[in-house]
Amino acid sequence: MLLGPPGAGKGTLAKQLSKGYNIPSVSSGDLFRNEAASGSELGLRLKRIMEKGELVPDDITVQIVKNRLEAKDAQAGFLLDGFPRTKEQAETLAKFVTLDKVFNLVVSDQEVIRRLSGRRLCPVCGAIYHVEFMPPKTKEECDQGHGALITRDDDKIDAIKKRLTVYKKQTEPLIRYYSEKGLLYDIDASLPPEDVVRQARNVLAS
Ligand code: ADP
Ligand code: AMP
Repeated sequence: MLLGPPGAGKGTLAKQLSKGYNIPSVSSGDLFRNEAASGSELGLRLKRIMEKGELVPDDITVQIVKNRLEAKDAQAGFLLDGFPRTKEQAETLAKFVTLDKVFNLVVSDQEVIRRLSGRRLCPVCGAIYHVEFMPPKTKEECDQGHGALITRDDDKIDAIKKRLTVYKKQTEPLIRYYSEKGLLYDIDASLPPEDVVRQARNVLAS
C-alpha cells in the first residue's frame, strides 16, 4: 500500500511497480475519476467532492475498491494507491485484506505544491507527467500518441491546499497505525523517480 500526501508520487511509483511485478495498481482516485467520466449520478457526486479536495465518504470508497479487488487480475496480488485514507477505511480493509507492506512516501508541502501545480495526465492511458520534472516528449501531448494531456480539476491551488489539510487531519494518523503494526517503510519521495523506485524495490526484495 502506498501512503503519502497528494502529489508525493504514489501514482508514478505504483505504475512502475505494477509493470515490474506484473500486478495491478488499484488507485481509488482513478476509480472515482472513471466513475465521474461515465457521467453517472454517483460519478457526478464524486466529481463535486473531488473538485473541492474533500474525501469521498468511507462507505462508498470501500465498496468501490472492494469491487475492484474482486476482479480476476487482482487475485495474485495488487498495489493500493491512495486507499485507505482514513482509519475507518484501514480497519474495514483489514477485515478482507492482509497487507504485506506499507510505503510511506515522505516529501515536503512545498515540493507537493510544485508537483501538483505542474502535473498533467493522459485522459486515455492515465500516464502521469510533469511539465518540468517529467515532461512529455512533445509539449502537452501523451508520449503514447493519445493526444492532448489534461490538468486535473483538483490540481488548482485552493483544492491542493484543502487536500493537504485533509491529508494531515485524516490520513497522516495512518502512519502511526501501520507503524504500530510493523508494516511501515519510509521512502524518501523527494528524490528523482528512479531513486524512489529503487528504494521501494529494495524493500520488496528484503
Ligand atoms: P500522487 O499519486 O501521490 O498524487 P503523482 O504520482 O500523480 O502523485 O505525482 C505528482 C506529480 O509529481 C506528477 O506531475 C508527477 O509527474 C510528479 N512526480 C512524481 N514523482 C516525482 C519525483 N520523484 N520527482 C519529481 N516529480 C515527480
Ligand atoms: P488521488 O487520485 O489519490 O489524488 O485522489 C483524488 C481524490 O479522490 C481525492 O482528493 C478524494 O476526493 C478522492 N479519494 C481518493 N481516494 C480516496 C479515499 N481512499 N478515500 C476518500 N476519498 C478518496
